[in-house]
Amino acid sequence: MPEFRQNLATREWVIISRERAKRPEQFKVRTERPELPSHDGSCPFCPGNEDRTPEPSLVVPASGSWMTRVVPNRFAALDAGLSPERHRMGRYLFAEGYGIAEVVIESPRHDLSPATMRDRSVAQVLDCFAERYRAMAHRPAINLITIFRNHGPLAGTSLEHPHSQIIATPIVPPHVQDPINLARAYFNNEGRCVFCDMASEEGEVRVRIVEETESFLCFVPYAARSPFETRIYPKRHSASFWGTTPEERVELGGVLRRALGRLHGSLNNPDYNFIIRSAPIGDEDVRFYHWYIVIVPKVTTPAGFELGAGIYINITVPEECAAVLRDTEPVEVRESE
Ligand SMILES: [Zn+2]
Ligand SMILES: [Zn+2]
Repeated sequence: MPEFRQNLATREWVIISRERAKRPEQFKVRTERPELPSHDGSCPFCPGNEDRTPEPSLVVPASGSWMTRVVPNRFAALDAGLSPERHRMGRYLFAEGYGIAEVVIESPRHDLSPATMRDRSVAQVLDCFAERYRAMAHRPAINLITIFRNHGPLAGTSLEHPHSQIIATPIVPPHVQDPINLARAYFNNEGRCVFCDMASEEGEVRVRIVEETESFLCFVPYAARSPFETRIYPKRHSASFWGTTPEERVELGGVLRRALGRLHGSLNNPDYNFIIRSAPIGDEDVRFYHWYIVIVPKVTTPAGFELGAGIYINITVPEECAAVLRDTEPVEVRESE
């Protein structure tokens, strides 16, 4: 029997299609990725080619070199030198493409990814996210900061060198604002944060939990849109990633590394996106919204019905995906001490 399931926060419906259901193992990537060298002289992000990126906004030094570099995105869709002011173009709204786009080069090693980095190095990348988030939040007219990672061509990157991105915009689009409005309505009605409620539910039923640590819950959501969608919620209520403590980021470094390492292990290093969602700037302390990380492996393609109705058909069962991830050892860490 196929079933509809509703995302409690967004009220979005998905179809869990048991008839068409594929065993989670069937999503394993079949083509082997080429083995990467630890250094590639033609890569703009590899050590020695620092002059091929703009002046960094943040460098975490290491003996004689660096551990993490944050640089303006040379191919950014947005430009910090423009005006955020909005105008009318006839009946339409128009604004210059003001915004900030930076690339976080996660490691000097060309062949690593957060799944194969040490927990400590992943935590350091998270520290860089937090520091740049803070700096961008203080810039005029910035209202939303999105942190994300594209892994592999299906996820939108052809650059192999491990990197993630931060984009700060004056615009808070409906895609972000509508769920926030729904979370506010839920809070007004129930008196509780809807994300805290989902974390409580997952913590009680446990069937979709991948890993639970002192401060974080890693799970496959009840109404997952696509196979192996995974979320990491902080247990402590907080509306913005900005509010994480250094200790929490150390713990999160391990949780995120293992979540990606389990995906890597069970699906043979699939392409994926992860996104860190936070409340808009100025709403860091609201009680109705909750920051989180969502990881989406690119193992299926949304088709006409998904685009037309906004109803995603998930051909895996979230509980089964969670069980597979739980039972998979994270791929081995390849970064030496
Ligand atoms: Zn490189
Ligand atoms: Zn909450």
